[in-house]
Amino acid sequence: MAPNMREEKLEYSIQEVSEKLGIPVQKLRRWDAQGVLMARRTDGGHRRYAKEIVDGLAASTLGGNLDRYNDELEHARKALQEKRRIIQLLVESETRYKDLVETSHDLVWTTDPQGRFTYLNAAARDMFGLSPKELDRRCFFDFEGKPSHLPNRRFLAQLKRDGEVKNYITQIIDANGHERWVGINARLVHDEAGGLTGMRGTARDITEQQRAAMQTEYFATHDPLTGLPNRVSLQKSVERALESHDKGAVVFIDIDHFKYVNDNVGHRRGDQLLVSIGGVLREVAEGLDAQVYRLGGDEYAVQIPGALRAQAQDVAEALLSRLRQCPLPIPGEEARLITLTASAGIALYPFHGSESAGLLASADIALYQAKDAGRNRVVIYGQEGEALRATHRRVLWAKQLREVLDEDRIQLYVQPVIRLDDAEPMHYEVLVRIEDNDGRIVAPKQFLEAAESLGIVQEIDLRVIAKLLHYLSAPERRNMRSRFFVNLSRVSMSDPSWTRRFYALLEGSDVSRGQLVFEISEAAAMAEVSISKNFIRELKQMGFRFALDNFGAGFSSFYYLRQFDVDYIKIDGSFVRDLTRDDANGIFVQALCDVGQGLSKQVIAKWVETPEVLSRLRSMRVEYAQGNLFRAPYPIDAPETREPVFRKTGTAGH
Ligand code: GH3
Ligand code: MG
Repeated sequence: MAPNMREEKLEYSIQEVSEKLGIPVQKLRRWDAQGVLMARRTDGGHRRYAKEIVDGLAASTLGGNLDRYNDELEHARKALQEKRRIIQLLVESETRYKDLVETSHDLVWTTDPQGRFTYLNAAARDMFGLSPKELDRRCFFDFEGKPSHLPNRRFLAQLKRDGEVKNYITQIIDANGHERWVGINARLVHDEAGGLTGMRGTARDITEQQRAAMQTEYFATHDPLTGLPNRVSLQKSVERALESHDKGAVVFIDIDHFKYVNDNVGHRRGDQLLVSIGGVLREVAEGLDAQVYRLGGDEYAVQIPGALRAQAQDVAEALLSRLRQCPLPIPGEEARLITLTASAGIALYPFHGSESAGLLASADIALYQAKDAGRNRVVIYGQEGEALRATHRRVLWAKQLREVLDEDRIQLYVQPVIRLDDAEPMHYEVLVRIEDNDGRIVAPKQFLEAAESLGIVQEIDLRVIAKLLHYLSAPERRNMRSRFFVNLSRVSMSDPSWTRRFYALLEGSDVSRGQLVFEISEAAAMAEVSISKNFIRELKQMGFRFALDNFGAGFSSFYYLRQFDVDYIKIDGSFVRDLTRDDANGIFVQALCDVGQGLSKQVIAKWVETPEVLSRLRSMRVEYAQGNLFRAPYPIDAPETREPVFRKTGTAGH
């Protein structure tokens, strides 16, 4: 009995527990099975519960804690369900993600720290011509096109430095030998301790876009006619050379008198000749490790990397003599040959320009000098005095003046012509001003020579007239008594196509003809006397007036003055300015006045700058005067000051 008693003391049967805890026997059995409240089994298979635990439970159950256990159980169940749901979601998302990656057209890749592929999606087959399996442990660089070897090293360096590279473009050759352009995105992958575990990223086949871009680039950098690289290419190439501190030479070559060739054979055949010339230059240059460019028109350039002065000169001479010695067949009539000569200008880098624009301008200047010196020769850029400065100015203005015309940056200024009798500003001389690229107002002295030699002066003359006609056509100016003196250049006057346009312009305007006085300089009139005479006569017949400017500067004018049917003569400013300082000038001006008046011309003295000169002119009975003493030139639209300066100050005295 003793063991039984002991057993009774330490353990309960399942019925006893059921009673003590108020829990059905079935539930207790389930709890036992679930491990919630476990029982010991006797040899006979009966459940025995530890008394201590059951009593403890009974005690707490009395406090209602059993509900708490139930709650906790319920809570655990819910948490378990939630966990299952999340796992389910993760599995779905992973599948979805995998599907996306697997079916993506972009290559998705991961590598080990050495850059060997550890994963590739199916796009690998399109890009490399191999399956992901065949690509295992291989890398991008196994497929690189030869020229991309170096850039790829740069790619790795950048990746290491920044941890990331975006849209890196490189060329690969796939397993079937096809060239492909790919854009790669890459990122380094680290473990939690910061150690590099590999790389991953994407890559896209951009062959088509790249080809299109390269084609666009080709068109932008090549001349369509000859297929030669163009000015943009040359600029880039020179920029690169200067950046890497290389030495070398640029030779500009321009065919002599190509206009006449064109006129002779026609523009289309001219084009074909330009292609042949490009071919000849290329042939010579190829043997010399030089590159030929077509800059436009009949102008080519040859860049000779590494060349110093003597070599550059030799190459340029070789190019020109080859052109000279090999007459080209005229396209379409191969039996006829044409011998061409060309002029060349050389600039050496970095000596003649430390940036590409400056260097090319130097070559251009040297070329102008070669043309000026008689064509068919080579000139190396050099800093030789005034001749060079003049060429420089001309080259600088050449571009600028065309822009001035294109952008209509021509302005009209006027200077009053004062009637000395009553000191009234009677008339006005129209003076052209241009606004240069820096917004400065520039007087013709600076650009006239360039404009004449470039054949731009005619256009400027026409623009000035057109603007003046427009100004005078305003209703409030219809009945002005004042006349406007307009300068014409010699080049314009002797160019028949110009005069046609000029007459058309005048005839198209209803401005009163009496309001306009055309001025040509004595030198211009004398250059081609018969042309000038006719020109003046025609204009006078149309009702315009005429003035001979800078009179006295050429002494022969006395003799011819009778022949030119002009209304005014304007005494050259250099005589007037020094009138009171130089007696000889005084005598000469007096003679000019007398001759002018004797021939019934009205006399205007220019460059009147001091009251002393003014009183001297009065004593000579000069009728009109013009100069800064009265008023400096001002914009034609500026408010008029009717009162001349000298009257206000009274310095001149009546
Ligand atoms: P210069 O000795 O001063 O160089 O005289 P040039 O007649 O060659 O005159 P310039 O070089 O200033 O002008 C080039 C001429 O070449 C102007 C035009 O008649 C002609 N030209 C320009 N571009 C083309 C072209 O694309 N095709 C053809 N056929 N002729 C062109
Ligand atoms: Mg030419």
